[in-house]
Amino acid sequence: MLVSGRLMLRSLSPSTPPTLASNHSAGVAKVVLKKGKTQLFKDGSPMVYSGAVDRVIGRPPPITGDIVLVADGSEKPIGWGFYNSTSMFRVRLMQLQDEDPSCALNAEKLLETRIVAAVKLRHNLGLPSAHTNAYRLVNSEGDRLSGLIVDIFGDLAVIASSAAWVQTYQHQIMDCLSRLNNIKRISWRPTVEILKEEGLDLSDLKKPDLIIPQTMVKDQNTSKKIYWKLVWRTRQPLRVTCFIWTALKEACLTQDNLRRRGVIVVNMCAMCKQANESVNHLFLHCPAAARLWYFFYSMLGLQWAMPFNIKDAYASWILWRVDKSIKRIWRMIPAVIFWNLWKERNSRCFEGISTPICSLKSRCLATLYSWHFFAPVNSVGNFLDFVSSLSLVR
Ligand SMILES: [Zn+2]
Repeated sequence: MLVSGRLMLRSLSPSTPPTLASNHSAGVAKVVLKKGKTQLFKDGSPMVYSGAVDRVIGRPPPITGDIVLVADGSEKPIGWGFYNSTSMFRVRLMQLQDEDPSCALNAEKLLETRIVAAVKLRHNLGLPSAHTNAYRLVNSEGDRLSGLIVDIFGDLAVIASSAAWVQTYQHQIMDCLSRLNNIKRISWRPTVEILKEEGLDLSDLKKPDLIIPQTMVKDQNTSKKIYWKLVWRTRQPLRVTCFIWTALKEACLTQDNLRRRGVIVVNMCAMCKQANESVNHLFLHCPAAARLWYFFYSMLGLQWAMPFNIKDAYASWILWRVDKSIKRIWRMIPAVIFWNLWKERNSRCFEGISTPICSLKSRCLATLYSWHFFAPVNSVGNFLDFVSSLSLVR
């Protein structure tokens, strides 16, 4: 969706939006303002400072990064925002009561909407232009994303984070930006000193400026060679390899493929029950899949902007330069995630048995171990040694 070199955002699949007034807001904590302190925020100030807060209603109490309702003295909601239990800015108010209901209490949707609006605004200002491809795409409060700054330098997006909620929604922000055409690389730069005041100590961050290229392989021949290497030259069992090959061709029997073949099924992802089931959703963008990917990212000390489709994800993964000592294991990780997700999806669809995500994570590690050593886990000590060896940052 690239138009004359300008940025356009590929949209997410639609989902049912919650609303502030409805019972979807049940369970969301409420930050009640002191009497006479409401108008300032209704007039547009996004920073609800601690002195303006009378009380917080909700059990368990909200923690930093949580979505909360902001209410006037009579406990009537005036909007919602992100809570911070430490900062002098107790809530960063993101949206008022009478604004777009499709974004109400929905951080992902709000992020996408605000980033699209920022892209449109720069587009109307003629950015990028023939004279420059360096400009500020998101300017914190100016774009109603308090604490988030995004600068564009050609195909590189540099994200400066100075609010706890931005850190909480790091993946969603990177995902949103990675769906902008022209953006191939993303650099995440937390402003460590300011984040300290937000209650986050990132001073021991090993690589605060790790740039992750979102390598989109355009050339078909190169892609084929990469898939060949990644899929067939790995240690995973042959039946897994065959399955992965089918998945990469987007031909495995997900519900959208079944419908295309005339099978009448209700197309709903068995993992999240929130979206249609497609190969790209099930293996990359489903919240369940995302949690498995994040699990490996955090273990490996990696930040990654998830590509849009499974082929790009696979190709990006193999092109990532890693130490020889971990290379074989590295190449099996996507297969481990896809295989375990597929087995879990089938178990939920056909046997009605669900495994919690935390157990799926350990199952993925055990699978990786068994494929690497050609043997199941036989000793806790060996297994823990294996797990602790999984890091790119040494
Ligand atoms: Zn899903």
